[in-house]
Amino acid sequence: MKSTCMKTIALTGVLLLVAASLFAQTYITNTTVVDVEKMKLLPAHTVVVMNDRITAVGPSQKIKVPQNAQVIDGTGKYLMPGLVDAHVHFFQSGGIYTRPDVIDLRKHRPYDKEIEWTHRNMEDFLRRYTQAGITTVVDVGSTINFLQQRDSFQRKAYSPAIYMTGPLLTTWEPQVYRNLKNDEPFFEMKTEEDARKYVQQQLPYKPDFIKIWYIVLDQNTEAGAKKLLPLVKAVIDEAHKHNLRVAVHATERITAQLAVENGCDFLVHGIDDEVIKDDFVQLLKKKSVVLCPTLVVGPNYGETLGQQYKLSYTDYTTANATVIGSLFDLRHLPDTSIVNRYKRAFAGPALARSRMADSILRINTKKLADGGVLIATGTDAGNIGTMHTSSYFEELSAMRESGLSPWQLLQFSTINGARAVGKDSVFGSIRQGKLADLLLLNANPLDSIANLQNIAMVINKGTVHTPGSLVKETPLALVQRQLNAYNGHDLEAFLEPYAEDVEIYQFPDKLQMKGKDAMRKTYQFITQTPGLHCEVTERIVQGNIVIDHESVSGFGNRKVSAVAIYHIENNKIKRVYFVQ
Ligand SMILES: [Zn+2]
Repeated sequence: MKSTCMKTIALTGVLLLVAASLFAQTYITNTTVVDVEKMKLLPAHTVVVMNDRITAVGPSQKIKVPQNAQVIDGTGKYLMPGLVDAHVHFFQSGGIYTRPDVIDLRKHRPYDKEIEWTHRNMEDFLRRYTQAGITTVVDVGSTINFLQQRDSFQRKAYSPAIYMTGPLLTTWEPQVYRNLKNDEPFFEMKTEEDARKYVQQQLPYKPDFIKIWYIVLDQNTEAGAKKLLPLVKAVIDEAHKHNLRVAVHATERITAQLAVENGCDFLVHGIDDEVIKDDFVQLLKKKSVVLCPTLVVGPNYGETLGQQYKLSYTDYTTANATVIGSLFDLRHLPDTSIVNRYKRAFAGPALARSRMADSILRINTKKLADGGVLIATGTDAGNIGTMHTSSYFEELSAMRESGLSPWQLLQFSTINGARAVGKDSVFGSIRQGKLADLLLLNANPLDSIANLQNIAMVINKGTVHTPGSLVKETPLALVQRQLNAYNGHDLEAFLEPYAEDVEIYQFPDKLQMKGKDAMRKTYQFITQTPGLHCEVTERIVQGNIVIDHESVSGFGNRKVSAVAIYHIENNKIKRVYFVQ
């Protein structure tokens, strides 16, 4: 009798403990709340989070903090909703081998290897997104296999919320993607029956919405667009019947207009073939269509394929280093004919065309935004040269350069992202009852968009993450990062993975250099030698040691080869031994 009673007491204790942790409340006190809907800063506010929800928002003097609550002192800080990237693709890595329909390098890396890699690294991308404060990602074109993989991340505190379509329902399919079964990113529609069937086929996998690739190859765009319109209409009708929103890729004014007139909910790109008129702006506004301009993806293709790399410090230091490394493979692939053709094209007419489209796109973005159209920030990350995570900040800079105001950017990057997927009642602003996906910043994001990267904490699904806690540093990543920046001729990004008191030796023990400042002086040449390129021909990773066999070209005609032995300590490169 006694023992049973003891058990009951013990069990009750455990239950109470579980209950306490389940109902644990976090109070973010005395902070400035960024109200993205009213475009107002609310100083001296307290926000209460319970589990994954915001349970209260109000002036600090009106919200009493219970004694055993978890408190985050938000004094001097800014609390805003987590960012949304409204246009990404997880079936694409961002690397050079990811779009064989654009540049076919399958004989150097088979496409099934690339797909296998993107599946294996989806968690890495997700962790990077959350770490950067991007707490929601919208995949506007994936595969059946990725839809299934999406489900495994649903409850993970490290993963942003993922909204995802199935394969793109397309009016034209590039040859290279055919017959890939559940890895196929496209379903090509020939008839209206196809269109309806392909919507229905996705339903068991629960897509969050449906995507159309409205591609017109006809010389006469308007005539071609009209010919294909019945397919677009059939998809929209079938998707709406199943309460699914429809996103459309339509980059010409005419295709976008036809899609919107016929019920499209979300345009995933801006218009780049003509400067839009007021009636187009009014149409989108009247229909409450969300438009994602994707300003940087086009220029990133040109810069990468033309080998005019313009990667940023943020790209080098926060994106997946293996993906960035692949972009520089163009400099040493034996297949020079295809590579050189692109290099020439993007130095000439293709570059001029791309610059023209780019400037029209920017003018239209400003017109749409100022005309009251719902704009959402999105990158098209995963495309060649557009990195998952870091390209978001590049996109924001491009939007700012297009003349959008800081408040517009904040609204477009949060609540309008939620509107893109029809979930603005669920997340996207700091309101009671909404999801607790929050970003606590050390500085005012209205002063500079760079402050969006000055993160004190990311609260994702109610879980608090401090900077750097989500992506594990590895010796391989450190060494690859400095190699990438060396090849991109970016001195500060090159120095970033090194320890302040780094030592550089000539093997076995002759000290040649000590400290980052000495390195900074010695390695000035990487910014001054345009053809400089280092190819790693072999690599061994063992514990905290990475050994690279490096072949360096760009100093005259001669290639210099060496072995570099990198020793990693405390997540930095501490010693390097060169064997020459
Ligand atoms: Zn896309």
